[in-house]
Amino acid sequence: MAADIRATTNQAPPLVDHDAFTSDAALVEAVRLHGGDELLDGLASIGSVAGSAEAREHGALANRHEPELAPYDRYGNRIDEVRFHPSWHWLMERAVGYGLQAAPWASDEPHAHVRRAAGFLVWSQTEPGHGCPISMTYAAVPALRADDAIAKEWTPRLAATSYDPGIRPVSEKSGALAGMGMTEKQGGSDVRANLTTATPTSVDGEYTLDGHKWFTSAPMNDVFLVLAQAPGGLSCFVVPRALADGSRNRLDVVRLKDKLGNRSNASSELELRGTWAQRLGDEGRGVRTIIEMVAATRLDCVLGSASLMRRALAEASWHVAHRSAFGGLLADKPLMQNVIADLAVESEAATALGIRLAAAVDRADNPHEAAFRRIALPLAKFWVCKRTPAMVAEALECLGGNGYVEDSGMPLLFRESPLNSVWEGSGNVNALDVLRALSREPEALDAWIVEVGRVRGEDPRLDRAVETVLGMLADTEGLEAGARMLAGRMAACLQGALLVQHAPAPVADAFCATRLGPSYGGTFGTLARGTDLRAIVTRAAPVA
Ligand SMILES: Cc1cc2nc3c(=O)[nH]c(=O)nc-3n(C[C@H](O)[C@H](O)[C@H](O)COP(=O)(O)OP(=O)(O)OC[C@H]3O[C@@H](n4cnc5c(N)ncnc54)[C@H](O)[C@@H]3O)c2cc1C
Repeated sequence: MAADIRATTNQAPPLVDHDAFTSDAALVEAVRLHGGDELLDGLASIGSVAGSAEAREHGALANRHEPELAPYDRYGNRIDEVRFHPSWHWLMERAVGYGLQAAPWASDEPHAHVRRAAGFLVWSQTEPGHGCPISMTYAAVPALRADDAIAKEWTPRLAATSYDPGIRPVSEKSGALAGMGMTEKQGGSDVRANLTTATPTSVDGEYTLDGHKWFTSAPMNDVFLVLAQAPGGLSCFVVPRALADGSRNRLDVVRLKDKLGNRSNASSELELRGTWAQRLGDEGRGVRTIIEMVAATRLDCVLGSASLMRRALAEASWHVAHRSAFGGLLADKPLMQNVIADLAVESEAATALGIRLAAAVDRADNPHEAAFRRIALPLAKFWVCKRTPAMVAEALECLGGNGYVEDSGMPLLFRESPLNSVWEGSGNVNALDVLRALSREPEALDAWIVEVGRVRGEDPRLDRAVETVLGMLADTEGLEAGARMLAGRMAACLQGALLVQHAPAPVADAFCATRLGPSYGGTFGTLARGTDLRAIVTRAAPVA
């Protein structure tokens, strides 16, 4: 009898209706370690929604139906609005409702930032694009603290767990969102090249801005931190979308970027013409002021990348557990086990470092933690974000041809995967920031040495890698050209130290044997013979 060509066999079911938090053992353990068991229930409820079929569908729809610019209303009035698909609002409402934006800054909870970081890592797995306005809102608060009155005005709204979209004065809104405008055509990393001008008005602290911004994401947000040249030099300004009298501030949206990925999110080009602004911090100290926001968004780049890795790993490991080839389940083929285990090691290392960094935010008053964050943030931003595209591509390949098809969700992850390395200081900029921290803040290196030294003598490969880094630092010639090499090694040592301390032995062993070796080529699926692949694969598997 002829086979029924319409019958479908040997296709993996979709990975839905699972708890994206509780089935991520690496994340659960990191939260337990840095936050405590009391955080687990709340995160599990985020995880069960994040892993639901409904959330996945909204994530796909928000990307398929991209935001559209509406420069004018039907009568020809300039409105400069962006219209989003309802699925975008569905995602945003939940992200804000879970307190993944600025809520931790207004919380007395001792582990508020760990809770939020884990929630962000889990929830972003539904759809990464809406993480952008959520992150910028989280990140704005520490910068706004440069001015007590301004912080008092904005923080309660930014921290409120009520999603209230639309352009209205903040006093009329139950919740608000923040963005940033630094990058201009002639220079993004080098913001000193900014041309936008800030002219003082007759009211103290108030200015008008004229110029442009080449990238300003989420232009429907309620307030932006913007850099502009004031008489006293480059300064930071608070620019609300709507003014107190109900009128709209002048923020002309020229066009939306046609981007590789991140397509659910709107990233705009803006023109500023007599735009009303309040100075934040002193004139001439714009970079110092906004760097607080940049630092917090860099944390989210690490967490966002860890989130992409985890989702990609979960999809890959789910697929191979349900697909057979050459007479057996892919998950039972030794070489596939090697690939999945290697992806899992990368994902766990990223998660461990991201949550450790969030714990440092919770303990910001502790000098060691502050110094640790100063060095570990650019290290992690460089290294974790840089590892992500290769990792996601490899996970995609585990699904074979299905992984290259939109329905699998993998192309969305892949298109998003380079972004965290590009924005908020590209790879080189972060590697150079590591050098800056090392040369200007000796306590930063001390903090790194303390952290990697916590397990001294426990793994000779880690000990050797630390010695290699210290040798590199002793040779200051050519340090700038070698900044990526140094940053990558320092970051891997931190990850290795965390895994040796806290991860199951097979994970730590696999990490140290590869990432800390002198000849690591970076190809996934190259764990050495003798590695306990089965243990690593089992630990990483999502449970539906
Ligand atoms: C989707 C998206 C959304 C964005 N949203 C925003 C936003 O909301 N607000 C905002 O302000 N910006 C935003 N940006 C801009 C982003 O932050 C910048 O693109 C980024 O900081 C790099 O700046 P640039 O594009 O001017 O590149 P450049 O600064 O010209 O850098 C180009 C390359 O040179 C490297 N480089 C720079 N300096 C050095 C050096 N000294 N030595 C060696 N290499 C160096 C960089 O690492 C990079 O690889 C967004 C970008 C994207 C892609």
